[in-house]
Amino acid sequence: MGFDLFQLIDLPRWNRKLLTGFWLIIALAILSTCVYDVIAWFTTTLAIVPIITLNTLWLCLGLLVIEAVHKWAKRGKDYIVIIGAAFISSGLIYSFPHVNTLLTTLFLPILVSIFYFQTSKVVFSYLLSLSCFYVLYGVLDKQTTWIISDIIAVTGVLLGGLVVALGIMSRGKELLKHLQSSLESGQDLLVRNVIMDKLAKTDALTDLYNHMSFHEYLDKLIEQGERYNFSFQLALLDIDHFKKVNDTFGHRAGDAVLKKVALTIKTMVSLNDFPARYGGEEFAIIFTDMDLQEATLNLENIRKQIAAQPHEELNGQAVTISIGVYDFQKGITKEMLFKGTDEALYEAKRSGRNQTIICTGHKKATVQ
Ligand code: GH3
Ligand code: MG
Ligand code: MG
Repeated sequence: MGFDLFQLIDLPRWNRKLLTGFWLIIALAILSTCVYDVIAWFTTTLAIVPIITLNTLWLCLGLLVIEAVHKWAKRGKDYIVIIGAAFISSGLIYSFPHVNTLLTTLFLPILVSIFYFQTSKVVFSYLLSLSCFYVLYGVLDKQTTWIISDIIAVTGVLLGGLVVALGIMSRGKELLKHLQSSLESGQDLLVRNVIMDKLAKTDALTDLYNHMSFHEYLDKLIEQGERYNFSFQLALLDIDHFKKVNDTFGHRAGDAVLKKVALTIKTMVSLNDFPARYGGEEFAIIFTDMDLQEATLNLENIRKQIAAQPHEELNGQAVTISIGVYDFQKGITKEMLFKGTDEALYEAKRSGRNQTIICTGHKKATVQ
């Protein structure tokens, strides 16, 4: 099954969230400066620093540029976000060179890259963080208290970060694969259930609804008809002298004819009608969106079509069908409905076959 869980990770949405996160980091930096100033206010040993400095302003400006590039770039949006993380981290370290703990923000690009579940992006972010650090070391030079051991430590710690990030990623991929295979087996089961359901409801030879599903549907329809006072028509269609067809041309030829008759019925009823193989060489159709006249006209068309259909299995002969039809109205029981339709069919057989008889109440009428 061609279903990939990784496709479910909505990257554009996550990129947006990450960029918003960067804005929050800048806001947090400004807030931290405020807190620092409040502490400095009460502690005479500390000097008050400006809350919005040039540094914080160019951090905002830089992030605006990154936002714009991200918005207009056609490709590589993920890399732009990772570069954004490196920019925020380097910007903070550059702005506050005396705050050594800010070196931990060098992890930011690596953490961000984990979102993409791609080794190349994680390695890229590691190399980027490392390069930023070396450049900052060169640029800040005398402003920091960093010594050679700090350089080695940061390089090592970032490498550790890379290893952990790769570990998290492979664990995540493992979990996703597990989830994916569970989902796939769930889907397989669903498809199998649908197929089983169809097999249980249809007749194998004719592909029409079978006897059982016909009765289930009819029961529901009678219940609805009683409740909402609507009518429908039940028709029974029986192939004439079918025993003779079998006796003359064999059972296989009989089967082929049954299939073709069923196909004609199926193609000549609408989607709102319910055609079923009632049993043997007998079919049933329930018409739900027609009045009796329309249903009868439809049945007559089916009857004439079948009578005009030659079968090569029968040396070019056609078969005919007899039809009994009953108009269901509120107050009629299932027994009355079947008795009426059966009687109409019997009447059609008795009075010469290849015809349709309508049963309304106790009256029977031949359709001319
Ligand atoms: P009538 O015009 O009165 O309906 O006569 P008939 O011969 O069609 O009716 P009858 O009930 O005497 O015979 C029905 C025949 O249908 C008997 C049976 O062998 C045949 N039949 C029932 N099911 C199948 C089937 O699945 N395949 C084939 N080939 N024949 C079937
Ligand atoms: Mg028959
Ligand atoms: Mg029969």
